Amino acid sequence: MNQAMQALFDLTGKRALVTGTSGGLGRAMAIGLAEAGADVALVSRTGSRETADAIRALGRRAEDLPADLSRDDEREAVWNRAVERFGRIDILVNNAGIIRRSPAAEHPREDWDEVLKVNLDAVFRLSQLAGNHMIHNGGGKIINIASMLSFQGGILVPGYAASKHAVAGLTKALANEWAAKGVNVNAIAPGYMETNNTAPIRADRARCRSITERIPAGRWGTPDDLKGPVVFLASRASDYMHGHILCVDGGWLAR
Ligand code: NAP
Repeated sequence: MNQAMQALFDLTGKRALVTGTSGGLGRAMAIGLAEAGADVALVSRTGSRETADAIRALGRRAEDLPADLSRDDEREAVWNRAVERFGRIDILVNNAGIIRRSPAAEHPREDWDEVLKVNLDAVFRLSQLAGNHMIHNGGGKIINIASMLSFQGGILVPGYAASKHAVAGLTKALANEWAAKGVNVNAIAPGYMETNNTAPIRADRARCRSITERIPAGRWGTPDDLKGPVVFLASRASDYMHGHILCVDGGWLAR
């Protein structure tokens, strides 16, 4: 690869904030951004110590900033703490998310509320804080984590499906307002990935097999499958992309 092409994807000197980094997809994406040269602020409810250690081992800076993103006051406080530590934030990845499974007719109100708070309200509030900051600084990248359930309804997860459809809509709404101001807002829609989020459906052997058979790639995704896509959307290589939902799904939606 020549130097000009390398420079398109290089994140050296960039500072990112990634949410949901205690494990799963968030950990892999945070490490991927660091492998491309970025320093990373890590936000999860319980802390992201192993992720921070992995990033420091790469020679990059990591700040572990635990916060409960279901709470409005903690969203703003953790954003301010990250800006204080790093001076500026160039890349925001809104990845933290939860799922609650039960039939729609009996879906507990608390589950609905909790899912919407983490999966949607926190995405909007952090994007708002980041958007203002990035517009002031002349640009930035916001990457939201959507889902196959930004397009489909799923089974037993009405709150989750509603939240992820909303994340796709919000991505487009913010992109329309901020594209001309140098802020790219896009989303990644992962397919079926091997993380805690999908542990219950992978434990159901019949369901797991029927999902695997429907994936054209013939396998579930791994967290590392998101490293390339997140670096692409965080880098200059995607400067003319706005409001796009990038599906990383082994072909699931093509079927
Ligand atoms: P995961 O392994 O369960 O990780 C979820 C992350 O979100 C954890 O780091 C968790 O932190 C954090 N989090 C949850 N509630 C939080 C809160 N109130 N405040 C701060 N952080 C919170 O799940 P995952 O599969 O990696 O999911 C990551 C994202 O990808 C989610 O938005 C999910 O909807 C989306 N997604 C996943 C798949 C899949 O197949 N796995 C497919 C499509 C989309 P703690 O551990 O500290 O609670």
